[in-house]
Amino acid sequence: MSDTRLRDEICTLARSLYERGYTHGSTGNISARTESGGLLVSPTGTSFGRLDPARLSHFDADGVLVDGDKPTKEMPLHMAFYDTRGTRAGAVVHLHSHYSVALSMLPETDPNDALPPVTPYSLMKLGRVKILPYFQPGDKAMGDAIRDLDGQRSAVILANHGPVVTAGSVENAVYAMEELEETARLVFTLHGRPHHQLTPVQIARLVETFDIDL
Ligand SMILES: [Zn+2]
Repeated sequence: MSDTRLRDEICTLARSLYERGYTHGSTGNISARTESGGLLVSPTGTSFGRLDPARLSHFDADGVLVDGDKPTKEMPLHMAFYDTRGTRAGAVVHLHSHYSVALSMLPETDPNDALPPVTPYSLMKLGRVKILPYFQPGDKAMGDAIRDLDGQRSAVILANHGPVVTAGSVENAVYAMEELEETARLVFTLHGRPHHQLTPVQIARLVETFDIDL
């Protein structure tokens, strides 16, 4: 995909997330690999509702900022995924989305497997979602916590803060993020009510059929 198209796609999908309430104010940041191995990143202090394709922070393949505005302060989250997941990481999205953040605060949430197996798509798009500890904003240890996962996870939630998801393309990273937030919302809808989850046999079939890395 050309850089021009990629810039437009980043801004269009970010605006769509904002307009549907997946993130608010100036929260959320997004990045994507360019064809030449560089990165396009949403600038610091910007709203997902009003990203300007021409002002995205543009890094070359050596990590040098070549044009655009200053990047998001949460760059360490993005770089941790690019550095540990290689070519599997084509884009990274981070939001402060309501239900995912709420899920990270519940003491009963399993930090190694935050989403119960309620639908096949959350497993297919996210694998197992890891809850990472709370970090003060700006603490570079956030990125270190993702690096410590050695590229084994594509979706994490920073406790009391928000989810970070990676996929091969911007479109797929956004779809995966939406799946995470909607599944977290289902968990709250079902909370305290008896309900059926996928059985171990159903999960095993999904893992085999769709080659899911759990
Ligand atoms: Zn954040």
